[in-house]
Amino acid sequence: MLHTSSIELSKSALKTNLNFIRRLIGKKVRLSTVVKGNAYGHGIETLVPLLEELGVDHFAVFNAEEAEVVCRIKKKPDSRVMIMGMIENEDLPWAIEQDIEFFVFELDRLHAALSASQRIGKPARIHIEVETGMNRTGFGEESAEEVINLIQNHPEQFEVVGVCTHLAGAERVENYLRIQTQIARYHDQLALYQDAGIHPKYRHIACSAGVVRYPETHLDMVRVGILTYGFWPSSETLIDSIRRKSEGKPQGQERYRDPLKRVITWKSSVMSVKEVNMGEFIGYGTAFMAPKRMKIALVPVGYAYGFGRSLSNVGKVLIRNRAVQVVGFVNMNLVIINIKEVPEVQKGDEVILIGKQGKRTVSVSAFGEMSNQLNYELLTRLPLNLPRTVVD
Ligand SMILES: *Cc1c(COP(=O)(O)O)cnc(C)c1O
Repeated sequence: MLHTSSIELSKSALKTNLNFIRRLIGKKVRLSTVVKGNAYGHGIETLVPLLEELGVDHFAVFNAEEAEVVCRIKKKPDSRVMIMGMIENEDLPWAIEQDIEFFVFELDRLHAALSASQRIGKPARIHIEVETGMNRTGFGEESAEEVINLIQNHPEQFEVVGVCTHLAGAERVENYLRIQTQIARYHDQLALYQDAGIHPKYRHIACSAGVVRYPETHLDMVRVGILTYGFWPSSETLIDSIRRKSEGKPQGQERYRDPLKRVITWKSSVMSVKEVNMGEFIGYGTAFMAPKRMKIALVPVGYAYGFGRSLSNVGKVLIRNRAVQVVGFVNMNLVIINIKEVPEVQKGDEVILIGKQGKRTVSVSAFGEMSNQLNYELLTRLPLNLPRTVVD
């Protein structure tokens, strides 16, 4: 093996998560699986065919490059691809040609889509994104008239597949009011389009947290990323989900069981083992001093490989079925771990960076437990070029 670490993806875990999502949204709501950021670090090229096998037929990506990858590797002709963010105007003819759907949130892109569609003689499949309070992308109410006119004047050029928006922090209870306002504004804006006779096939606003916490946001389609991979958008979302399931049971008697399963396992192996004397600093600088004579092991992953520097002195990995601590700073290509409790560790032993070994697990958020946002960040930092294999 040339690489210093590798990734395994569990098909059965993926199936469990998809079933969980499908149970929440019901049969009538279309599921778009979000595979941006290299499928949250899991590996888009491995995941898309796997997701297709499990019945997913709609893929949401951030940009044109990711859309190109999905188009190239998808096996089913009917699987749809939707760009939620960046595409250059000059690539719009290609997107239209390939039946790629894309968000439109400014007049410039709408005009460019019009001319691209006229040029190649095929309608642009657009999702009109409306601004509801995230203040990132989306047409404000003041633009509705112009958007509507342009679309109505060119019925051959546009297929309005969706009208959508994105929620600004549905995973946190502190954003409750803001989310309520967003939902209300969405419906106000949707009404403007519908009153003008524009009836999108899919009204969609929910991401993972919306799916779990705000059932009224399911509408016709949901865009789900993080849950698919077996992680929660926040611990609040998990707790909320458990509470909902335990409704009727008195507080304190909720059944704690995480219905999701982690899809990814990330592993490496011990490169070298050595002993360090009491009072010696380990690694760069003075981040860690050996409190007594101790044994350490070196693992050939570091921040260049997605093992974040924020895990210095706090990260944990699994070895010989034990959880052991990272000591000192995470280096570019190496981490040092404290093996005083497992002195039998040898060069070549398997090291689990994310996943399960024996009875123990390290989850991504257990890396630091500072915030679940870490899940998103750490996952997407996993290198593109690691070998990824599918296991059951
Ligand atoms: C990333 C993203 C999603 C998915 O978010 P999750 O929290 O991972 O489910 C949905 N919609 C848009 C516009 C996004 O950018």
